[in-house]
Formats: sequence, structure tokens, C-alpha cells
Amino acid sequence: MLKFPVPDLMLGSIFELKPNRLKKMGVTLLLMDLDNTLAAYHCPSPSVPLRNWIDSLKKAGIEPFIFSNSHGNKAESFAHVLCVDFINRARKPETKKLTELLKKKGFSPKKTAIIGDQVYTDVLCGKMAGITTIAIRPIDMSNPLYFLRFALEIPFRYAYKRRLRITKKKEKASVKH
Ligand SMILES: [Mg+2]
Repeated sequence: MLKFPVPDLMLGSIFELKPNRLKKMGVTLLLMDLDNTLAAYHCPSPSVPLRNWIDSLKKAGIEPFIFSNSHGNKAESFAHVLCVDFINRARKPETKKLTELLKKKGFSPKKTAIIGDQVYTDVLCGKMAGITTIAIRPIDMSNPLYFLRFALEIPFRYAYKRRLRITKKKEKASVKH
């Protein structure tokens, strides 16, 4: 079935995603993209704010899990420092590895979310797997290619904002009545 990659939630960065919000959504497993989501492409190790954010998720009973398309050992080294599990070469937007992971861990799609900076990989993969999708703005858009990629995602990011406006309008109208 054709899935439009409109995210369920859109935020400026990972730090805007509070553990309580995930808890209210019933999410207990958070799949995290690495490059341009947790850290910029050329950043070799996790920052202190990132470590604190990961710890706050764990304290809330949410498992953070690095789910990255990257090759090489960056995902492994981040996972090691952050004390989380990881999968690299995930081949998003393909869902094979995601589905296998949920099966292996015994997590239901309803309790799983994915957060990432790319609509055509992270969000599309999550949509096709039936999990909650959260898009953020890429950390670094200094490379013209990253910017072009972001520009191609604008229709879907705009669709999210439009849907949010409509929902808020409806909520306001129902309060008045
Ligand atoms: Mg990314």
C-alpha cells in the first residue's frame, strides 16, 4: 500500500522530545537515526546534552536504540558510549531489519517510535512498518546536498503543519460548543 511519509510528530531537535511525551504515547522503544539526528555527520562522539537526554529516556523506562543507515563503526562507537544497542546498515526505508528487530525483541509496533531527520528514509520506513514517526530538522544543512534533500521533503513537512492546524481548529471549535 502506498504510504505518504507525513510524520506523526515534527520537532526542531531530539531535545524537544521529552520522555513524558513518549510515555503518554505508550512508546517504550525509540529507534533513533544517528547522522544529523543524534549528531552532525562529522561529529565523532556523543555530546554531553545527548548523553543526558539518553539517560532521561532510560530513567523513564524507554529503550533508546540506534537504528542507522551508516556504514563504518560510528554507530557502534556511539552505542558503546551511550550504553544502548544498535543496528547499522539498516537500509531505511526498507522495513526488513526493523520488522526483524521488533520480532526479536518482542516489541509491538504500537509501542515503538522512530525519530530521524529524513522524511524519505526514517519517516517512510516507520510509516511502512506501522510505528510512530517523529521528524526533526537536520542538525547540519551546510552541505548543499543536505539542503536540497531537505527542500524535497518540504511538502510532507508542510502537510504535517497543515494537519496540526486543522486539528487545533477542531479542538477549539469543540471547546466552544
Ligand atoms: Mg540522518
